[in-house]
Amino acid sequence: MSDRYQFFTSTPIGKLVVKNLGLPAPTPLVRWTEGAPLVDGTVVTGGRGRLGKSLVVALDDLGIANVAVPTTGERYRGLVFDATGLTSAEELVELQRFFTPLMRSLTSCARVVVLGTVPEQTDSAGERVAQRALEGFTRSLGKEIGHGSTVNLVHVAPGAEETLASTLAFFLSPKSAYVSGQVVRLGATGTTEAGTVADPARPLAGTVAVVTGASRGIGEQIARVLHRDGAKVLGVDVPQAASELQAVMREIEGDHLVLDITAKDAPQRIAQHVKNTYGQVAAVVHNAGITRDKKLANMAEDRWSSVIGVNLMAPERISRELLEQGLVAQNGRIVGVSSIAGIAGNVGQTNYAASKAGVIGLVDALADVVDNGVTVNAVAPGFIITQMTAAVPFATREVGQRMNAMSQGGLPVDVAEAIAWYLSPGSTAVNGNVVRVCGQMMLGA
Ligand code: NAD
Repeated sequence: MSDRYQFFTSTPIGKLVVKNLGLPAPTPLVRWTEGAPLVDGTVVTGGRGRLGKSLVVALDDLGIANVAVPTTGERYRGLVFDATGLTSAEELVELQRFFTPLMRSLTSCARVVVLGTVPEQTDSAGERVAQRALEGFTRSLGKEIGHGSTVNLVHVAPGAEETLASTLAFFLSPKSAYVSGQVVRLGATGTTEAGTVADPARPLAGTVAVVTGASRGIGEQIARVLHRDGAKVLGVDVPQAASELQAVMREIEGDHLVLDITAKDAPQRIAQHVKNTYGQVAAVVHNAGITRDKKLANMAEDRWSSVIGVNLMAPERISRELLEQGLVAQNGRIVGVSSIAGIAGNVGQTNYAASKAGVIGLVDALADVVDNGVTVNAVAPGFIITQMTAAVPFATREVGQRMNAMSQGGLPVDVAEAIAWYLSPGSTAVNGNVVRVCGQMMLGA
């Protein structure tokens, strides 16, 4: 399952071949390790807008060193630009004036974050134009920055100024190693504030998180990362995976429930277990998923129905059951796992892409109706190196791995870190988002 090409490019002969043939040379991505500082270096802040003050407060609270005036010759870990003050196309030149002189002063695996206003919530046509323009800027810079660096845009709704910290902690740290070119939205929730976190190293301490498909692959890693952050994980998987599930849960002091999530009584059984054992859960992560690829012309109904059943109907039914029974705690989190196939489409995957686009529909539908600080979001992984992708034929796999701004596949931990950011008690303003964990894949939007 390892990336042999990336290993080859790091050898002396590989370096020579890559240089002479102009092949992609993937930068080894830095990932966060427990105990490491959130940001190992200094971040330069710039721009003028309504977020300036809250931005510096958030960075200071997170212990992220920041300066407004860069020193010549210094190398920086990140750049954050408050673009909320840009109210016309003419003013967009401020982006060029801030970024251009700094682009050669960044370390590898640097982080760039642009902060803007939700375009639909601007005060004038000119401002809406300027704020919408930030998307093209962000996505292009993400594609050209290279060196394993990322560029993301955070739209901050008026009234959400004080909610920046958890999102900056994710997008400025190595936790977002494989997330680039994304546009996320922080809404003014006006709801219950998240409680203060006693131990920042274990923000989920004392909470319970349900993770489906937790015996292997991405689900196993989600379970491990949520455990690292202090949560008790209730792992769910099919009877065929029972022993693997139990082994993972034993290691992370979790709990397990062996069932097929498509079974008629699965939502009730999960709800019953939660009610009897914990009272409520803080989070549900709908990770379990399957593929049954065939072109539509050859698609048998069972292939269609099994994929829609596992990937879409089960998350819908389980979410509804837990919400209706009041089993999702205040400030609770519901997370779907979509796929870039659900956004861009893919040959042989009409069933899978329909199910994964449906997951985005589920996020939209639920995010609008939940209250009490509960949020609903999804991740859309791109090419993540797991047993699911190991089954992909060599040539397709090779193309899938290289066709992104990082020229490499992601790791399950990259998806898990994005989910941990959604689950963070400080992420109550992060609602209704779909973030692609795809190294900014060239396919689709
Ligand atoms: P995987 O096949 O390695 O793991 C999926 C897990 O779900 C397994 O443990 C499996 O037993 C479980 N599962 C399947 N059907 C189930 C059912 N009916 N009831 C309970 N559990 C069930 O896959 P993965 O690569 O780790 O993918 C995890 C999720 O991420 C899936 O939703 C997948 O569609 C999505 N995804 C993966 C990639 C990728 O590149 N690997 C890309 C995009 C999206």
